[in-house]
Amino acid sequence: MTYPPRVIPPGSTIGVLGSGQLGRMFAIAARRMGYRVHTLSPDYDTPTGQVADREVQAAYDDLDAVRDFARGVDVVTFEFENVSAAATEAAAEHAPVRPAGSVLHTTQHRLREKGFLAGAGFPVTPFAAVRSLDDLRAALAALGTPAVLKTAGWGYDGKGQVRIAAPGEAEAAWASLGGQEAVLEAFVDFDREVSVVAARGLDGSFAHFGVIENRHHRHILDVSTAPAAVPSGVEREAVAIARGILEGLGVVGVLAVEMFLTRDGRLLVNELAPRPHNSGHLTFDACVTSQFEQQLRAICGLPLGSPELLRPAAMANLLGDLWSGGEPDWAAACRFPDVKLHLYGKADARPGRKMGHLTALAGTVEEARERVVAARSALAGPA
Ligand code: AMP
Repeated sequence: MTYPPRVIPPGSTIGVLGSGQLGRMFAIAARRMGYRVHTLSPDYDTPTGQVADREVQAAYDDLDAVRDFARGVDVVTFEFENVSAAATEAAAEHAPVRPAGSVLHTTQHRLREKGFLAGAGFPVTPFAAVRSLDDLRAALAALGTPAVLKTAGWGYDGKGQVRIAAPGEAEAAWASLGGQEAVLEAFVDFDREVSVVAARGLDGSFAHFGVIENRHHRHILDVSTAPAAVPSGVEREAVAIARGILEGLGVVGVLAVEMFLTRDGRLLVNELAPRPHNSGHLTFDACVTSQFEQQLRAICGLPLGSPELLRPAAMANLLGDLWSGGEPDWAAACRFPDVKLHLYGKADARPGRKMGHLTALAGTVEEARERVVAARSALAGPA
């Protein structure tokens, strides 16, 4: 198998497995730099497909379709990480896959991910593997309550999670996850949630977007702000953790590290995402190089760009719930001149579904937060 030269230059074709908003914003960044983009997913007329050069509709486990897809591109990357090892191996027969399938294999399963993190000495929330009701009872006795039981695979945005307030709730909690392999975590009474979105180039170079602060609503990211209001020591440690993780996993591309900052100033890694991340969306408008362009540069073997934040920024997600009273009033949000509107081209506005986001730039983080929340409120129309 011969791979293309080290640098995959503009004019080449990037294959994206997955077709949601992350792929869409990646495709916009890639096309701006003169690349072509193909996307593969089981869906059609997708957020990524709408802006890609080619949209292939196939199941991720249709290995012949994945091989065909990889044959037509110069490098394969992801916007959806729950792709099987068999699919990434099939793709790798025909094109470099970045980040490698091994990175996805680790991060798509909470026990493998936590095993890697704890084994490498990174600080993680106290946890225990749970494969039976007896395991769960033992884990609750060891970790105490409250605790959170999470399925080991296929969880995101709080799906596949149940909070356990007292040991007596074990049976119901185990049943509610359908008896799937799970992980029990001690409940962290955190001060705030933060993330570090970082990139590692083909040559091992490293760049990060600093610490971003994240507020969730009903387990879904609601508002992110940058820079996070954390002491410089915490920032240094968060970035060092992220760097160690990208290096430990041998990532080529972008990876986001979600962390809890405890009330006594400790950082605990909650989750890894081996791709651009919702908390990094503000980099699209607020940084010299966005997380999407950084992913492109990394997987193409180009030098990483400057991640410098040009102005304090805030991002607010637009969920499908906003459509409950009809089409949002887009002009009202556009009346805020320092607010940028992003919509993902999704037709069906289901509650909880990520439909778009707003980014506000301002003189301070607090102003940016207020501005983005005000612009989002204006979408609902006059009160
Ligand atoms: P996750 O899907 O693991 O990222 O969890 C979604 C959200 O649930 C997190 O961003 C937290 O707000 C909350 N959460 C998850 N795990 C814990 C925990 N062990 N302690 C406290 N809050 C948690």
